[in-house]
Amino acid sequence: MSIRVQNISKVFERFPALNGVTLEVKQGDLLALLGPSGSGKTTLLRIIAGLEFPHSNDGKVFFEDREVTWSSAYERRAGFVFQHYALFNHMTIAENIAFGLRVRPRKTRPPEAEIQKKIKDLLAMVQLPGLEHRFPTQLSGGQRQRIALARALAVEPKILLLDEPFGALDAKVRKELRKWLREFHNQTGLTTIFVTHDQDEAFELADHIVILHEGKIQQAGTPHEILSRPANRFVAEFLDLPFPS
Ligand code: ADP
Ligand code: MG
Repeated sequence: MSIRVQNISKVFERFPALNGVTLEVKQGDLLALLGPSGSGKTTLLRIIAGLEFPHSNDGKVFFEDREVTWSSAYERRAGFVFQHYALFNHMTIAENIAFGLRVRPRKTRPPEAEIQKKIKDLLAMVQLPGLEHRFPTQLSGGQRQRIALARALAVEPKILLLDEPFGALDAKVRKELRKWLREFHNQTGLTTIFVTHDQDEAFELADHIVILHEGKIQQAGTPHEILSRPANRFVAEFLDLPFPS
């Protein structure tokens, strides 16, 4: 499913967090939203997820051709994973993964046998088979983030929103997960927005990159386009590139 964000602004206590943001993510694309801390990345992702709403009426969010600007997160059915995504520590891995399915109203809840199969398939997909009966505290940080991803995928989202999902992990694990996520994306082809303040992560992972600063898009393009022609002084300095180039 494609995503289109059109002229989105958001003000918190008179401070503009987003200022007229427009972007498009094509079906199957992995887009990195890159920018320094406070640039508005999380706010934008939350508006796309339906956890936050834009400031004015002229901003719009579309999933494919459907306008979802004012729809709830539940209606939008996006999968999301956050940096400090807390799994429920008192629940097993299997219970964590199945959570989003079991809270559904009875009419739309899959039968238990189907849920069990799904848990198994998802654990295989995130390459952690057999961990059903463990508890989150018995897993490493990297394993926990992959379980968080499995949990997001359980409800079969059409888009995946990741807000610095590896931010809390050490550099080596982060690198491994980055590679793993890229392969995972190649297999699933899920339209994905990946938020990061880490330029290496963005440039290694993404098909397209959008650079945000002070709530405004500074540049959008492929990694190659951005590296070969930074659009302005901010982008150049942020990426340690000469400007004008
Ligand atoms: P990023 O994810 O790029 O670090 P955020 O989207 O979290 O940036 O924040 C953008 C700006 O909006 C920051 O100045 C932040 O302090 C402000 N902000 C974000 N959420 C809130 C909120 N709930 N209330 C007040 N200010 C907020
Ligand atoms: Mg953030």
